[in-house]
Amino acid sequence: MRIAVSGCGIAGAAVAYLLAKSGHEVTVFEQSPECKPIGAGIMLQPSGQKILKRFGILDLIERQSSRLEGLDAFLRSGRPLIRLRYASLDEHSHAIGVHRGLLFDQLHQLCVAAGASVITSAMIVAYTSDEREVHLRDQSGGEHGPFDFLIATDGSRSLLRKVSGIPHRAVEYPYAAIWTTGPCSTVDNKLFQVIDSTTRLVGLLPIGSGQCSFFWGLRADRYDDLIEHGVDAWKESVATFSPAAIGLLDSITSFDQMTFAGYRHVRMRRWYADRIVFLGDAAHASSPHLGQGANLALEDAVCFADALADCDDFVIACHNYQRQRWRKLRYYQQLTRLLSPFFQSDVPLLATGRNGVLPWMPHVPWLRRRMLRTLCGEQPGWLG
Ligand SMILES: Cc1cc2nc3c(=O)[nH]c(=O)nc-3n(C[C@H](O)[C@H](O)[C@H](O)COP(=O)(O)OP(=O)(O)OC[C@H]3O[C@@H](n4cnc5c(N)ncnc54)[C@H](O)[C@@H]3O)c2cc1C
Repeated sequence: MRIAVSGCGIAGAAVAYLLAKSGHEVTVFEQSPECKPIGAGIMLQPSGQKILKRFGILDLIERQSSRLEGLDAFLRSGRPLIRLRYASLDEHSHAIGVHRGLLFDQLHQLCVAAGASVITSAMIVAYTSDEREVHLRDQSGGEHGPFDFLIATDGSRSLLRKVSGIPHRAVEYPYAAIWTTGPCSTVDNKLFQVIDSTTRLVGLLPIGSGQCSFFWGLRADRYDDLIEHGVDAWKESVATFSPAAIGLLDSITSFDQMTFAGYRHVRMRRWYADRIVFLGDAAHASSPHLGQGANLALEDAVCFADALADCDDFVIACHNYQRQRWRKLRYYQQLTRLLSPFFQSDVPLLATGRNGVLPWMPHVPWLRRRMLRTLCGEQPGWLG
């Protein structure tokens, strides 16, 4: 089949690789002049690791990244908020702190090596379809096609979602984060976070080679104030808030080194229409508090490619993809939506409840297992 993919991110590169490998003629359209990831590090959970193992790139990624045994979060006072260790679920279980660039480069190389064509500087803004084929239009009015179908992997701000006519709801969170990577020796083999009320949050995620991904949570509308007050004033307040970040802060001299990322929550009634199917953040963006988005995007790619391989029919494949992914994605989306305000919101009262309950939850064996399975990306739905 002739398949178009709009967006060369994690989901796009992964699905293009699988479909090109199966012998389809795949063309990927990417809006940026160059295919490259935005942002710093991500937590690759056991669910995502399984997929990279199938792709044959897990060992290479693991060698160049950081093995994470769990996560530790503290209140500003130093009181532990939560401590989770993957080994309490299964002794081999762990996460991998990986630089987004490393993961993306590997996926991109696979996709090109499998024969997919990648066209850059092509922002796909619209499409027209009939029962048999689809044509795409880019930002300059250029037409592309015909294709048998279109896969929309154009991220949380998907333009194709808007023009698809599929009923959906997209909510912008008022909170966001700024990210960077830098040298850091204070945190090893775990995700480390410090949180104050529901307004301030700092995190350090080891990603290998003595580097950490650093993030600072803030209200999206305060970013301009932060820049106005200057990078030194901000660094001072972060250093007081979390001395573990001091070494890394030394490497930051300008806000230009940071990436600003706003969060969105997107819910679609269904993930396909005539000749288009949605995967990854384009289909189900969430806030990053559970650290699952990239893992879920990889799973979507495999699920859709397998569904197509099983039947060679676009509509049946979409139907099976939706059926197989629905329960799990609904669980992760609803849970993230429920929990996000406890960590970043304008309701400090939620922090009081969080601080009272969260430290005790891992002491209840059933809850600890459920929390760990969720973190691992292995919880199939609310009912297990
Ligand atoms: C701050 C932050 C931290 C995160 N941390 C984690 C984590 O630790 N673990 C984890 O699993 N996930 C994490 N995530 C989530 C993860 O980054 C996303 O879920 C994941 O990148 C989704 O992949 P995607 O391919 O669907 O979308 P994206 O990676 O956003 O890729 C979309 C691609 O489409 C391109 N594009 C957009 N519009 C168009 C268009 N109209 N035409 C052509 N191309 C277009 C973009 O340029 C981009 O290349 C985090 C997200 C954020 C914001």
